Amino acid sequence: MPVTQIPITTKTRTSLEDITPQVAQAVRESGVRSGLCYVYAPHTTAGLTINENADPSVRRDILATLERLVPRHGDYQHLEGNADAHVKSSLLGHALTILVEDGELVLGTWQGIFFAEFDGPRRRRVLVKVSP
Ligand code: ZN
Repeated sequence: MPVTQIPITTKTRTSLEDITPQVAQAVRESGVRSGLCYVYAPHTTAGLTINENADPSVRRDILATLERLVPRHGDYQHLEGNADAHVKSSLLGHALTILVEDGELVLGTWQGIFFAEFDGPRRRRVLVKVSP
Protein backbone atom coordinates (compact mmCIF):
# COMPACT_ATOMS: atom_id res chain seq x y z
CA MET A 1 0.00 0.00 0.00
CA PRO A 2 1.42 3.43 -0.91
CA VAL A 3 1.71 6.23 1.61
CA THR A 4 -0.89 8.97 1.33
CA GLN A 5 0.23 12.53 2.00
CA ILE A 6 -2.22 14.99 3.51
CA PRO A 7 -1.11 18.60 2.99
CA ILE A 8 -2.01 21.02 5.78
CA THR A 9 -1.61 24.79 5.79
CA THR A 10 -1.91 26.23 9.27
CA LYS A 11 -2.90 29.86 9.74
CA THR A 12 -1.93 30.64 13.33
CA ARG A 13 0.98 29.83 15.66
CA THR A 14 -0.95 27.09 17.44
CA SER A 15 -4.03 25.20 16.31
CA LEU A 16 -5.70 21.82 16.26
CA GLU A 17 -6.72 20.93 12.70
CA ASP A 18 -9.36 18.23 12.25
CA ILE A 19 -7.96 15.86 9.61
CA THR A 20 -10.50 13.05 10.19
CA PRO A 21 -12.13 13.41 6.73
CA GLN A 22 -8.78 13.23 4.91
CA VAL A 23 -7.64 10.18 6.91
CA ALA A 24 -11.01 8.47 6.36
CA GLN A 25 -10.66 9.09 2.61
CA ALA A 26 -7.17 7.56 2.61
CA VAL A 27 -8.62 4.48 4.31
CA ARG A 28 -11.40 4.18 1.72
CA GLU A 29 -8.95 4.62 -1.17
CA SER A 30 -6.66 1.93 0.28
CA GLY A 31 -9.35 -0.69 -0.19
CA VAL A 32 -8.34 -2.28 3.13
CA ARG A 33 -11.41 -3.76 4.86
CA SER A 34 -9.78 -4.85 8.12
CA GLY A 35 -6.40 -3.65 9.36
CA LEU A 36 -4.51 -0.75 10.85
CA CYS A 37 -4.24 2.89 9.84
CA TYR A 38 -0.97 4.58 10.75
CA VAL A 39 -0.92 8.36 10.86
CA TYR A 40 2.45 10.06 11.12
CA ALA A 41 3.52 13.71 11.42
CA PRO A 42 7.13 14.23 10.18
CA HIS A 43 7.68 17.49 12.08
CA THR A 44 9.50 18.49 15.27
CA THR A 45 7.18 21.33 16.28
CA ALA A 46 3.83 19.67 15.58
CA GLY A 47 2.06 16.53 16.70
CA LEU A 48 -1.05 14.39 16.48
CA THR A 49 -3.84 13.60 18.88
CA ILE A 50 -7.30 12.09 19.00
CA ASN A 51 -9.93 14.00 20.94
CA GLU A 52 -13.44 15.43 20.81
CA ASN A 53 -14.44 17.05 17.54
CA ALA A 54 -17.98 18.02 18.51
CA ASP A 55 -17.47 20.95 20.89
CA PRO A 56 -14.77 23.34 19.57
CA SER A 57 -14.13 24.61 23.11
CA VAL A 58 -12.35 21.30 23.83
CA ARG A 59 -9.72 22.22 21.24
CA ARG A 60 -9.36 25.65 22.78
CA ASP A 61 -9.00 24.15 26.27
CA ILE A 62 -6.31 21.69 25.13
CA LEU A 63 -4.27 24.44 23.49
CA ALA A 64 -4.73 26.82 26.44
CA THR A 65 -3.71 24.13 28.94
CA LEU A 66 -0.61 23.19 26.91
CA GLU A 67 0.26 26.89 26.81
CA ARG A 68 0.02 27.08 30.62
CA LEU A 69 2.10 23.91 31.05
CA VAL A 70 4.72 24.93 28.47
CA PRO A 71 4.81 28.73 28.15
CA ARG A 72 6.21 30.28 24.98
CA HIS A 73 8.90 32.16 26.90
CA GLY A 74 10.78 30.34 29.63
CA ASP A 75 14.15 29.04 30.72
CA TYR A 76 14.99 27.43 27.37
CA GLN A 77 18.41 27.02 25.75
CA HIS A 78 17.21 26.37 22.18
CA LEU A 79 17.94 29.66 20.41
CA GLU A 80 15.40 29.37 17.61
CA GLY A 81 12.67 30.77 19.87
CA ASN A 82 10.36 27.81 19.49
CA ALA A 83 11.50 25.56 22.34
CA ASP A 84 7.94 25.45 23.67
CA ALA A 85 6.76 24.07 20.34
CA HIS A 86 9.37 21.28 20.44
CA VAL A 87 8.31 20.32 23.97
CA LYS A 88 4.59 20.33 23.11
CA SER A 89 5.34 18.23 20.03
CA SER A 90 6.97 15.56 22.18
CA LEU A 91 4.19 15.68 24.75
CA LEU A 92 1.57 14.80 22.14
CA GLY A 93 3.71 12.52 20.00
CA HIS A 94 3.98 12.04 16.25
CA ALA A 95 2.06 8.89 15.43
CA LEU A 96 -1.38 7.39 15.84
CA THR A 97 -2.61 3.89 15.14
CA ILE A 98 -6.32 3.50 14.47
CA LEU A 99 -8.18 0.26 13.84
CA VAL A 100 -9.89 -0.23 10.48
CA GLU A 101 -12.96 -2.45 10.29
CA ASP A 102 -15.46 -2.82 7.44
CA GLY A 103 -13.32 -0.41 5.44
CA GLU A 104 -13.79 2.42 7.94
CA LEU A 105 -11.81 3.98 10.78
CA VAL A 106 -12.93 2.70 14.17
CA LEU A 107 -13.45 5.92 16.14
CA GLY A 108 -15.67 6.71 19.09
CA THR A 109 -18.75 8.86 18.51
CA TRP A 110 -17.05 12.05 19.62
CA GLN A 111 -13.53 11.27 18.48
CA GLY A 112 -11.70 13.13 15.74
CA ILE A 113 -8.10 13.02 14.51
CA PHE A 114 -6.23 16.27 14.96
CA PHE A 115 -3.01 17.68 13.60
CA ALA A 116 -1.54 19.88 16.33
CA GLU A 117 0.36 22.94 15.13
CA PHE A 118 2.69 24.52 17.68
CA ASP A 119 4.90 26.78 15.54
CA GLY A 120 2.76 28.01 12.68
CA PRO A 121 1.68 29.35 10.41
CA ARG A 122 3.38 26.79 8.16
CA ARG A 123 2.86 24.31 5.38
CA ARG A 124 2.79 20.84 6.91
CA ARG A 125 2.07 17.30 5.86
CA VAL A 126 0.77 14.16 7.50
CA LEU A 127 1.52 10.69 6.18
CA VAL A 128 -1.06 7.91 6.24
CA LYS A 129 -0.48 4.22 5.62
CA VAL A 130 -3.14 1.55 5.81
CA SER A 131 -2.13 -2.07 6.24
CA PRO A 132 -4.31 -5.20 6.16
ZN1 ZN B 1 13.49 24.91 16.95
